[in-house]
Amino acid sequence: MVHLKSEREITLLREAAVLVSKTLAVVARAVAPGVTTKELDRLAEEYILDHGATPAFKGYKVGSVVFPATLCTSVNDAVVHGIPNDLPLEEGDLLSVDCGVVLDGYVGDSAYTFAVGDISEEDRMLCRTTYEALEAGVAQAAAGNRTGDIGYAVQTLCEAEGYGVVKDLVGHGVGRHLHEDPQIPNFGRRGTGRKLKAGLTICIEPMINRGGAAVRTEPDGWTIRTADSLPSAHYEKTVVVRRDGPEVLTDFSLIEAELDEVPYRAMEGMKDS
Ligand code: MG
Ligand code: MG
Repeated sequence: MVHLKSEREITLLREAAVLVSKTLAVVARAVAPGVTTKELDRLAEEYILDHGATPAFKGYKVGSVVFPATLCTSVNDAVVHGIPNDLPLEEGDLLSVDCGVVLDGYVGDSAYTFAVGDISEEDRMLCRTTYEALEAGVAQAAAGNRTGDIGYAVQTLCEAEGYGVVKDLVGHGVGRHLHEDPQIPNFGRRGTGRKLKAGLTICIEPMINRGGAAVRTEPDGWTIRTADSLPSAHYEKTVVVRRDGPEVLTDFSLIEAELDEVPYRAMEGMKDS
């Protein structure tokens, strides 16, 4: 069932989304060769708890498997849902960090892919295209459009570059729950899928592989990796569908203020709150 949000709920969702952006900014400041993803996880958890919220992913269950950490940290060929560990990050790694919080009963959810030191030109292009695909998807989040319009925008942009669009995992509605209806696939046909109505709040999150689209799950039950072991990138924003277009609740500018280099600048005229 799709739940359209009141302005009061949207205000609460914005506060949760901005707290996630601030948490990812704390992570961005700390990412460097030699740092472990467990250290990043501890920083994020402390920051979230210090701001009156709780981590949304820690304790999240799928069947009988429980996610043990605050962040999903997915390095190189890990696409999403990587578990923070004690391995030091290395120069040239691609680190996707996904973070969720619950603040005053509402969920914020966002992801960003970081370069650890200097990354390869191929990986830089992958990040840039994934980021552009996110922006293209967000631009379709207007009342009257359909979920397939978002998926089509993401898919065509990435496949034109020869990248694999992950289809086993999708974006989603967000509100009091981390995963609400409708699903927001990163692929589709224009004019198909669920109709987007004003007040719908969704997470758009392309997961894009430098190689093929196929993925596999690690024995840990969580980590999703590319089947061909090539790197993957992941960016995610929370967006409100408005009558006159998308309103972005996530604030990437907070994260990007901490970075030397950003893959992409927001499109001219984009409504970024
Ligand atoms: Mg997420
Ligand atoms: Mg999500």
